[in-house]
Amino acid sequence: MKKVVVIGAGIGGLAVAIRLAARGFKVQLYESSSHAGGKMNQLVKDGFRFDTGPSLFTMPELIEDLFEIAGKKSADTFEYIKLDETCRYFFEDGVVINGFSDKNDFANEAELKTTVRSKNVLKHLNKSKFIYYSTSSLFLTKSLHKLKTYFSFDVLISMLKLPFLGVFTTMNEANKKSLGDQKLTQIFNRFATYNGSNPFLAPAILNIIPHLEFSKGAFFPKKGMYSIADTLFQLAQNLQVEFFFNQKVDQIIQNGKNVEGILIGSKKVKSDYVICNSDIYYTYKNLLGQESKAKKILKQERSTSALIFYWAINKEFPNLDLHNIFFSDDYHQEFLHLKEGNKIYNDPTVYINITSKKNKNDAPKNNENWFVMINVPSDYNQDWDSLISDARKNVISKINRILKTDLESCIEFEEVLEPRTIESKTGSFKGSLYGTASNNRMSAFFRHPNFSSQFNNLYFCGGSVHPGGGIPLALSSAKIVDDLIV
Ligand code: FAD
Repeated sequence: MKKVVVIGAGIGGLAVAIRLAARGFKVQLYESSSHAGGKMNQLVKDGFRFDTGPSLFTMPELIEDLFEIAGKKSADTFEYIKLDETCRYFFEDGVVINGFSDKNDFANEAELKTTVRSKNVLKHLNKSKFIYYSTSSLFLTKSLHKLKTYFSFDVLISMLKLPFLGVFTTMNEANKKSLGDQKLTQIFNRFATYNGSNPFLAPAILNIIPHLEFSKGAFFPKKGMYSIADTLFQLAQNLQVEFFFNQKVDQIIQNGKNVEGILIGSKKVKSDYVICNSDIYYTYKNLLGQESKAKKILKQERSTSALIFYWAINKEFPNLDLHNIFFSDDYHQEFLHLKEGNKIYNDPTVYINITSKKNKNDAPKNNENWFVMINVPSDYNQDWDSLISDARKNVISKINRILKTDLESCIEFEEVLEPRTIESKTGSFKGSLYGTASNNRMSAFFRHPNFSSQFNNLYFCGGSVHPGGGIPLALSSAKIVDDLIV
């Protein structure tokens, strides 16, 4: 039986372990922290439960796939519901737009609250669908770095369509041109942040993302986001994957054109394949000892990071939903600040996720569990303590303005996650959420491949390599590695 060692129990690592164990490989997974899930984690305190990492769940079919592969039924252990309203958008002038997941309902809502006719909103969403169907087979499901990818008919068609799909305009330019209205443009620009990019720089091909939300839907796992990691962990265990927690891998053992296994302290673990789910930068720098290759990766712009306040709130806010966005009045300024990196804009876009709206067990009665996040640059040794203190004041005063409340008096306790702690807890280089950004039209091609060009039996999965960050793409990367190995 061939043996595989996986480094890291993030979503990508768990998924690849399940796939290969189901194929009959002996799989061992080594994880430096005490739990599975990586960035997907939870905090439980004084009757409140918070998902500390990802909060938006799309493309559940990728999880269903793993159940099917493992020969289990998801409904037995992992329940989720489709959301009728994906996100509620709040603007400083008092306008609130309900982001209904049904595209006709959303188009009618947009016509009611903005200057755009519903038929133009639907036309815009159709363009997004067209981009999705034209490119998903190229960018999402195959290795971009294998010649044979380009010999398939659907990929060839995708390549031919590329010039017409918005690679030469930015998301903001395309959205502004198609919609005209400032609020609706801002709503569609925000999809760039789903992979930590900047809509004023990222190519309009990223307008693929709204299709996923409006046409395929957004979902809520009934036991919270962390139940995704927990479920995959159970599934892997059922397939005899062996887990080793609190085991930081120190080195990948190299021998000519092959790798032989891993080193943890002085413990040597031999294997036929090594798959890294750890951040690609640290994999080169620390595990392969290739500082110069790591520096090359460093040249690519990192995705944004985040500052998150987990607030136990001692009252209920009926006008808020599960996902809420309080938009900055000047989105362009906000992204200019993010790009410059040493300041946080004083009117940031604030995202509030409240899972107790859907699962009452996540907070005590008449209380709510608020996950409050703003985008911030990744860590370049900024003075985070003072940036965080200023940002906290600005976030609270924005929420107070829009909800006409006194939020400070509602906060029972607070926990904070920021770029430095994201890096120290998950090994994500500079605390970026999604590996490298997609701020130029070649980003997809520059992202690290899922295989090593130097070692025959070394592979990479997860958000810092192709096809990119976020749960669906990390899951896709696991499938690509599985295809490459098998
Ligand atoms: P990671 O989660 O990066 O895990 C890698 C694992 O490798 C870690 O457990 C780490 O401890 C381990 N490791 C590293 N080095 C070693 C070593 N030497 N030895 C052993 N183990 C090691 N995505 C969405 O789709 N929707 C969202 O709403 C969303 N919001 C987010 C909000 C936040 C605050 C964060 C942090 C992320 C968010 N993301 C979101 C992104 C998403 O969480 C990630 O893209 C995804 O979880 C990355 O998975 P991964 O497979 O790359 O593994």
